[in-house]
Amino acid sequence: MEFSLTPNLTPTPEQRRAEILAAPGFGVYFTDHMASATWTPADGWHEAGVVPYGPIMLQPAAAVLHYAQEIFEGLKAYRHADGSVWAFRPEANGERMRRSSRRLALPELPVEDFLGSIEALVRTDVDWVPTGEEQSLYLRPFMFASEAFLGVRPAAEVRYLLIASPVASYFASGVRPVSIWLSTNYTRAARGGTGAAKCGGNYAASLAAQLEASANGCEQVCFLDAVDQRWVEELGGMNIFFVYADGRLVTPELTGSILEGITRSSILELAKAEGLDVEERRVDIAEWREGVASGEIREVFACGTAAVITPVGRLVWDGGEVGDLTAPTGEVTGRIRQALVDIQYGRAEDTHGWMRRLL
Ligand SMILES: *Cc1c(COP(=O)(O)O)cnc(C)c1O
Repeated sequence: MEFSLTPNLTPTPEQRRAEILAAPGFGVYFTDHMASATWTPADGWHEAGVVPYGPIMLQPAAAVLHYAQEIFEGLKAYRHADGSVWAFRPEANGERMRRSSRRLALPELPVEDFLGSIEALVRTDVDWVPTGEEQSLYLRPFMFASEAFLGVRPAAEVRYLLIASPVASYFASGVRPVSIWLSTNYTRAARGGTGAAKCGGNYAASLAAQLEASANGCEQVCFLDAVDQRWVEELGGMNIFFVYADGRLVTPELTGSILEGITRSSILELAKAEGLDVEERRVDIAEWREGVASGEIREVFACGTAAVITPVGRLVWDGGEVGDLTAPTGEVTGRIRQALVDIQYGRAEDTHGWMRRLL
């Protein structure tokens, strides 16, 4: 598909854009354009274009508003020192979006068109790719049931949109450990459910637990498996890793209810290349509590595109807590984070072939 351009005739004034890029926050400001395409059974994907960013028309009966047939992706475009702009493993996001489509009975967007939309939008709004330290242009592709129909079946009209938002480093004042609330009243996903798909419904289901976390003074939630309420799965939007005193790196294995993060896979590959022992297996919540208390687990960190790697300082549950929020970022956590960020910003050689040049 060719994404033809309909230019925004009233783009953000240059000076206003400069102000935004100086302090972009996260997901607050959006660029002047968005990419769009529509799918119907008769025509497949069509009406591909880059159009002015703005409100979209939707019938109140649009199926997504009732039955949540929706998926999304999240990735970033990075500005390198020579001015070039790159994406980190965008093909992997495109592949994951296809897998999510299959689970949510949405049409598959070919990876080539997924990449085409990213290239077309970034080319149009390249002045929005920030140059500051650990800043980037966050890209949010998403797809939803736009058909106006209240019957329950996969929609016969679907929209794909890609919007972009300049973002600052998640950690404005340096990397800082977070506290995690262990959710035992709620689970995020169960076997056979949608946990492995990146869909809005999973996030909606995590919000009550997130409120519980805040009420208990924590910033993030950790979910356990739905059956035994015993095995560590992941946070609401990040995967989790444990660093053992003997140097092993452990992360919960993919069971079908965990989202396969691209940051997670990249860390596994980086760690193997560094010669670290890596284990993907089930992790008992007791192993986490006791491991941190005894010192057998030296470091815990969460990972995802938005914050890259976030050290976990403390785990809190109904009746206790373990860990230390004031501890400095662990040595292995810091090293892996730096290795990843250096590849993304072009400061280290991309030996894995992860970076794709957009401009
Ligand atoms: C997106 C997401 C992640 C992290 O995936 P990345 O590809 O590393 O950004 C982890 N867990 C959930 C539930 C997610 O939606």
